[in-house]
Amino acid sequence: LRSLLKDPALLATQAFVAGEWVAADDGATFEVTNPARGDVICTVPDMSRAETARAIEAARVAMKGWAARPAKERAQVMRKWFDLMIANQEDLALILTAEMGKPLPEARGEIAYGASFIEWFGEEAKRIYGETVPGHMADKRITVIKQPIGVVGSITPWNFPNAMIARKAGPALAVGCGFVCRPASETPLSALAMAVLGERAGLPKGILSVITSNRASDIGKEFCENPSVRKLTFTGSTEVGRILLRQAADQVMKCSMELGGNAPFLVFDDADLDLAVTGAMASKFRNNGQTCVCANRIYVQAGVYDEFARKLSEAVAALKVGDGLKDGTDAGPLINEDAVAKVEEHIKDVLDHGGSVVAGGHRHQIGGTFFEPTVLTGVTQDMKVSTEETFGPVAPLFKFETEEEAIEKANATIFGLASYFYARDIGRITRVQEGLEYGIVGVNTGIISTEVAPFGGVKQSGLGREGSHHGVEDYLELKYICLSV
Ligand code: ADP
Repeated sequence: LRSLLKDPALLATQAFVAGEWVAADDGATFEVTNPARGDVICTVPDMSRAETARAIEAARVAMKGWAARPAKERAQVMRKWFDLMIANQEDLALILTAEMGKPLPEARGEIAYGASFIEWFGEEAKRIYGETVPGHMADKRITVIKQPIGVVGSITPWNFPNAMIARKAGPALAVGCGFVCRPASETPLSALAMAVLGERAGLPKGILSVITSNRASDIGKEFCENPSVRKLTFTGSTEVGRILLRQAADQVMKCSMELGGNAPFLVFDDADLDLAVTGAMASKFRNNGQTCVCANRIYVQAGVYDEFARKLSEAVAALKVGDGLKDGTDAGPLINEDAVAKVEEHIKDVLDHGGSVVAGGHRHQIGGTFFEPTVLTGVTQDMKVSTEETFGPVAPLFKFETEEEAIEKANATIFGLASYFYARDIGRITRVQEGLEYGIVGVNTGIISTEVAPFGGVKQSGLGREGSHHGVEDYLELKYICLSV
């Protein structure tokens, strides 16, 4: 990998703690592997609570000076960091694909997407406005100011090794917080590369740390028990989110949670079917089905069901599966064997209950954790795919008759992150977008992620929003000041 990079220094293999590039105190390391090839890329330090505590303390000290700087100065550093990410987009994408497996064009897209949060929140930092409120008594003057909440602990998954961190580091650092992140152990290299560029951009020493660690729960405990951490931001499964929320309760810590989804994708009989197929492909097969906003349940109205199934199967059959570093690859490997096992389990469950495979359905002949992009028909609400997130390249097609039925089935889940539907009737569009109990609704589009809009879920998909002007609020506290004159 190093030989492919224009700037080999971006492949950092030490952790970044309190402004220093270091090994673990006890010298422990763990391996980072390439999921497409199965080979070891390098090892990184396996940090524990002691190093995390040092990073938190450094962040606490560094944020005093950082938060006191004029917002414009912080914005300039963020802008420089953004510029460096874009200038090094190709190297960052190569590192990302090597450790995570997504095709290189998708990795380039993720770097641009991640960088956009650094840019956006640097700009937003200048607009953290407070309020003046008419006093409640003749001698009272009331103002409300917004201040950075304090040191932020961040835990992120492997599916977007750059963007998931950028979405959190962007607002946290821009408003003046210190930021300590623990990237997923599968994908620490993208986080370290970002830190290399952050350091070059002029982030003050200690304000940002990257704790590479295979001991996720230890690091989570340090974040929740260390009194200097005032905010926990997490992206991952609802299951782990619940554990962290319970842990964070002891310190009454503010939490942002981007948790699991089980996105419905509805196709009504008045939809443009070709556009709906394009949207379903984009939503379902991006990152090989491994995103929390991927369509997980595709509901198609009875009159267009067979035609949609045929068109989708044709599109799926044309996907090229392979090593993400090779040209022309549409879908990379799954992240690991467990992911393949879950995909196989969901397909078997559909078949056992009377559904059919109309495309794919098996491990790919190239071996490893590659899997054939799959379309299933005859899928019903009693099957596992209707309640669990598959996180793989499987498109299950459910049939519905009426609009009310579609909305009811779409909402029949504990999750509420993203949803999508295709229709043309304006009355229907209005009713359905209002009826879906989701934080995000894509109407006649399968791609909804952007830094300018508030991303986040309702129900058990999470707490808080990332992106947009709302995205800074999770990292700020309000202070009400009552002045007697
Ligand atoms: P995923 O299946 O996407 O990896 P998880 O919720 O299992 O989702 O993991 C998301 C992140 O949370 C990963 O970085 C993982 O290592 C970390 N993690 C898992 N369990 C814990 C825990 N008990 N405390 C803190 N972090 C955890």
